[in-house]
Amino acid sequence: MAELVRTKAEVRARVAAARAAGKSVGLVPTMGALHAGHRRLVERSVAENGYTVVSIFVNPTQFGPAEDSDRYPRQLEADLELIAEAKADLVFAPGVGEVYVMDHSSWVEEARLSEGLCGARRPGHFRGVATICAKLFNIVRPDRAYFGQKDYQQLKIIERVVRDLDLPVEIRAVEIVREADGLALSSRNKYLGPEERRAALAIHRALARGQELILAGQRSPRSVAEAVREELVREGKLQIQYVEVVDAETLEPVAPLEGRTVIAVAVFAGSTRLIDNVVVQCPEAKPRD
Ligand code: AMP
Repeated sequence: MAELVRTKAEVRARVAAARAAGKSVGLVPTMGALHAGHRRLVERSVAENGYTVVSIFVNPTQFGPAEDSDRYPRQLEADLELIAEAKADLVFAPGVGEVYVMDHSSWVEEARLSEGLCGARRPGHFRGVATICAKLFNIVRPDRAYFGQKDYQQLKIIERVVRDLDLPVEIRAVEIVREADGLALSSRNKYLGPEERRAALAIHRALARGQELILAGQRSPRSVAEAVREELVREGKLQIQYVEVVDAETLEPVAPLEGRTVIAVAVFAGSTRLIDNVVVQCPEAKPRD
């Protein structure tokens, strides 16, 4: 079993001991309710570092007023088992009071990549995410930190914050882990009823359709987005929040499409919000005769 600690002082002491033993340190930040997607991140860290810390913290500052962090699933016992199987060394599961003092008033705000996609629909969300990640980097001081491409905009924002603020940590991206039928693993999938679960498969189908079009030479982001929407609408039970086809680095629209493009989708299945994406390298334009 990985050791479980609740305080910053304990984390610092354990990490200092690991460093004194000559080990590099990897951090996997999570909100718990762990699944095979998280597990892949932990395994990557364990493979690449002598000492791996997994944090479990449902960060209240990244939830909007209409979203309820108390409703987020919690299952510490099962999480500890998964972490033990993945062979991490330390679990840091602090209470809110250990992380935020009552009159906390300092924030990390990335101002460009946060504007669109989920950022436009969840005001303040990425400020909360960037702030908690910066705090975790300062508490743990890892050499490397691991983030999933599932939350693509989050990954890009954290990379940007680390670059812009010279935070001494290397961000490693881990590809999306999916169920056999294509649904991206998410802690929120457990909220889906059987009908919604079936409907959610349209997300992967829609992204695959968009990818196929780009690979076949479609350069119009609008046409790609329309085809993705069509596939989602055909399902009938999903409510689209957004379908965006944007540059994979700037997260801004490019027309015609070129280079690496991300197709990003957010939908509601009932009251459960699901996000997914695919990164597609546009084929080189054919030289004219
Ligand atoms: P969360 O606990 O949902 O905040 O996620 C913690 C980390 O796990 C984030 O870096 C996520 O991007 C990553 N993650 C969540 N689901 C998946 C997945 N299906 N595949 C890969 N990484 C994931």
